Amino acid sequence: MAETLKDVQEQLDNLRQRYTQHLPERVEQVAATWNQWLQGQQTASEEEAISYVSTLHHLTHRLAGSSATFGCNQVYDAARTMEMFCKSILEGSKVLTTQQQVEMGSLLATLRSAAIAQLASVDKVDFPELPLTQPEYPQIIESVSESHDRLIFLVEDDLELAQDLALQISCFGYRVQSFSEFSEFEKALAQTTPAAAIVDVVFPEEKLAGPKTIAAIQQAREQPLPVLFISCRSDLMARLQAVRAGGQAYFSKPIEVGELIDALDHLTARKTTEPYRILAIEDDASLAAYYALTLQKAGMVVDVVTDPLEVMLPLIEFRPDLILMDMYMPGCDGLELAALIRQQPAYVGIPIVFLSRETDFNKQLTAIALGGDDFLTKPIHPHHLIASIIPRVQRSRLLRSLMVCDSLTGLLNHTAVKEQLSTEVKRASRQQTPLAFAMIDIDGFKNVNDNYGHLTGDRVLKSLSRLLQQRLRSTDIKGRYGGEEFAIILPNTDGANALEILDQMRSDFAQVRQQAEGTEFSVTFSCGIATFSNYTDATQLNEAADRALYEAKNQGRNRVVLGEV
Ligand code: GH3
Ligand code: MG
Ligand code: MG
Repeated sequence: MAETLKDVQEQLDNLRQRYTQHLPERVEQVAATWNQWLQGQQTASEEEAISYVSTLHHLTHRLAGSSATFGCNQVYDAARTMEMFCKSILEGSKVLTTQQQVEMGSLLATLRSAAIAQLASVDKVDFPELPLTQPEYPQIIESVSESHDRLIFLVEDDLELAQDLALQISCFGYRVQSFSEFSEFEKALAQTTPAAAIVDVVFPEEKLAGPKTIAAIQQAREQPLPVLFISCRSDLMARLQAVRAGGQAYFSKPIEVGELIDALDHLTARKTTEPYRILAIEDDASLAAYYALTLQKAGMVVDVVTDPLEVMLPLIEFRPDLILMDMYMPGCDGLELAALIRQQPAYVGIPIVFLSRETDFNKQLTAIALGGDDFLTKPIHPHHLIASIIPRVQRSRLLRSLMVCDSLTGLLNHTAVKEQLSTEVKRASRQQTPLAFAMIDIDGFKNVNDNYGHLTGDRVLKSLSRLLQQRLRSTDIKGRYGGEEFAIILPNTDGANALEILDQMRSDFAQVRQQAEGTEFSVTFSCGIATFSNYTDATQLNEAADRALYEAKNQGRNRVVLGEV
């Protein structure tokens, strides 16, 4: 994402230049089809004649669409007239009158000269410039995380408490640097900016030293430092001072570590949203590249399919949030493809936006009736394209998350994990890469519920899910398989690696001090791992991981077992 707007504008300009250079070729394609049609006038069967006209219709339609997008207006005018002409013949007699032949010949000549004129004046096009300042799209990628995004500064004069807090916070994947005095803290702050600071309110030298010092620090900074206050005071004055110093949260001692971690997660890198994934299905490669660049500029990830018959694999593996679909393509048109995609239950909810030169309102309605969500007319201004896409993706993500996520932990639900496992096994098999699947079950969870209550039990489940989310890569797939069972898919990971990762997680989880009303306890889990190289389908892999988990329980719990290798 390091690309600047200027880079993108440059790439778009290059794209347009290349497009213009290839215009004469495109025109000659039109001319060749026209000649075939003309020569076949006497000898060709009606079927052959129709196939020439429809090819010509398709070529001119496409040319009209792309030339309009790239701002080549004269070419567009000529191509569009030819397109309409072909359409009227297709809908009418299908036989050319002499007058029509003459008309078509002169249209072709106009098209040729328009293409050549365009080539001579590459810069004189009505090409929409990208805005030079970042437009006000809802931010897709919020604060991109930096290397020290897990670094926390803790300022606390009670050394014992500081040590204890640091230990607990570090169990959740944060690195903690402790300071007992503000002078050291300020020195460190001059060197690095941590993801957040946890600051005590009361210090021996002064009652409200925490908020006071922070307020002074904040004033001198360009970007405010995210701060959480902790204190033995919970009176209004202390809280007010904390708010004035820019404190984002306030915790009274004794500190509920789960809540503190929630607040830290909220303040730090957890904010990043995965970029929107758009699948563009467009047979014209240069137009496809144009859309891709435009959307990439807005922070989206784009995959392009130029052959509509090859849509299935990207659909499964790229998992688009939205499909941008051309209406007319050879082999299979956009309407058919939308219907085909919609017939598969997994893709019922995916938004499909048609993009075409089609201005016929009835055709647009048909497209929408067949499962399209919107209809955008080419040429489309980059702003308009982005603005149409963003709200649709947001809605579809929300709906999807309601469908596939577990409500307590936010991890994938059982069905979604199983679907992902099957996809990932296929991918690993095709790409010949390793894959590990792990199943986790909390030990003696029934006792946790019995001893501390169901709500505390729920909090333990959340603490494990949080640990999974923080410790695993974003490409690892984490799910809640059932009650107190979790499942993890680790792509590109062999058994030995998976064992190491999960055993570290096991030992970290065991160290988390779970809180219940007035008391603390710890919980462990058992884990079974199976790897793809030993089992070739998702069901077998699942069963093998289940057996390994059973083995871990049998061996005494609180351990990780790698299934038979
Ligand atoms: P083992 O070490 O053999 O896994 O023992 P266990 O007690 O963890 O296993 P068991 O399957 O006997 O108990 C699982 C318990 O998990 C029973 C059920 O009440 C509880 N449970 C399931 N879902 C939830 C939930 O969403 N919240 C809470 N608090 N408890 C749940
Ligand atoms: Mg259990
Ligand atoms: Mg269980």
